[in-house]
Amino acid sequence: MKLTKFSMGIGDRFGCQGKAQLAAFVKAKAMGVEITPVWNKSNREHLIVHTEPDSVRVEADEAVKSLEWTGDYRVDADHIGLKTVDRFIPGSDFFTIDVADFTGKAAAEADCQAFADRSAGYLGQMTIPGIDEPFAVTREALLAIAGKYLLAVQEAGRIYRHVEQAKGCGNFITEVSIDETDLPQSPMELFFILLAIAGEKIPVQTIAPKFSGRFNKGVDYVGDVARFEKEFNEDLAVLAFAIREFGLPADLKLSVHSGSDKFSIYEPIRRALRKHDAGLHVKTAGTTWLEELIGLAAAEGDGLQIAKEIYGKALGRFDELCGPYATVIDISPEKLPAVETVNQWDGSQFTGALRHDRRCPGYNPDFRQLLHVGFKVAAEMGPRYLQALKDNEAVIAANVTENLFDRHIQRIFTGI
Ligand SMILES: [Zn+2]
Repeated sequence: MKLTKFSMGIGDRFGCQGKAQLAAFVKAKAMGVEITPVWNKSNREHLIVHTEPDSVRVEADEAVKSLEWTGDYRVDADHIGLKTVDRFIPGSDFFTIDVADFTGKAAAEADCQAFADRSAGYLGQMTIPGIDEPFAVTREALLAIAGKYLLAVQEAGRIYRHVEQAKGCGNFITEVSIDETDLPQSPMELFFILLAIAGEKIPVQTIAPKFSGRFNKGVDYVGDVARFEKEFNEDLAVLAFAIREFGLPADLKLSVHSGSDKFSIYEPIRRALRKHDAGLHVKTAGTTWLEELIGLAAAEGDGLQIAKEIYGKALGRFDELCGPYATVIDISPEKLPAVETVNQWDGSQFTGALRHDRRCPGYNPDFRQLLHVGFKVAAEMGPRYLQALKDNEAVIAANVTENLFDRHIQRIFTGI
């Protein structure tokens, strides 16, 4: 199974916006840009919203049928491990194998030595086409990389083989993700991680490293943009070289997680993709749910009331809601507006604070991040929340499509 050069992960917490999301890809296709939509929902999200993985397949199939989409589309078992993968197997054809928890733990000593032996051909000054400075590869450095990543790659191999046994070889896309780690991986580390992945015979098609800088959910990139651009270009050069050296799938590409709203790095990413003629998978952070809130607030009346209630409850449950997302959000509590203040807002003040538009003076990234992790509160509202989505379907759909197309697809993919 192949993945087109450009693909985009779209999350939909409540499973109601599949058509509105797909409409953005239809618009891109009309402009001659083919992007494969990949619906993704992690185990964590399924547990919080109380949904089953098969529901994502149903949503995707329905959207595709209704919009008569003839391009590829995929359903991603997002951030799965051996313990969580089984219920995702029937409905998914894309598996994001998350082995971040296994990084930093040492593999068996003999395995580490064997890894260093296998890599011995690269000892000394290793040059990679497209990267100016050579890397100094020592046996010590190889053993350090093995110590940090080999166990994780071995675990990825176990998960891959488990899925392959159930679905059959070549019937799904394989992603390996190591983005939710403490430290970013250097381009040299990425190269040897790919060597280990090839050693496990994982036909990896997308890999999600952790890049330097912060990729907080639903807000812009925080970090040194020039440094990111250099690293991203070097990672692309590493991938191209690794495909040739290790016989990895020719369509192997980078996957950027929590990739939505990273407006300040989209231009460097576009430049790099153009320069290397490379593909890309971008996972959005599930911000479609924030567009639902924007649509509800814009509708005033009951919709705005629900949006305010969700904020009030989310603020009261700050620690509980933010805890599971600690590595991917950064909220300054003192910058969060008081419940009493928000309760006075009209729809445009609420949407102005929430919508990611830096030209809007009321935009508040702390408010936005808290609401982003506040979907649990909406899930607990159950039928009342879902009914409000139905009642305001048109305004919500317009926001969902506009967010994906105008703020993401057009900035990342068109004109490359
Ligand atoms: Zn991720």
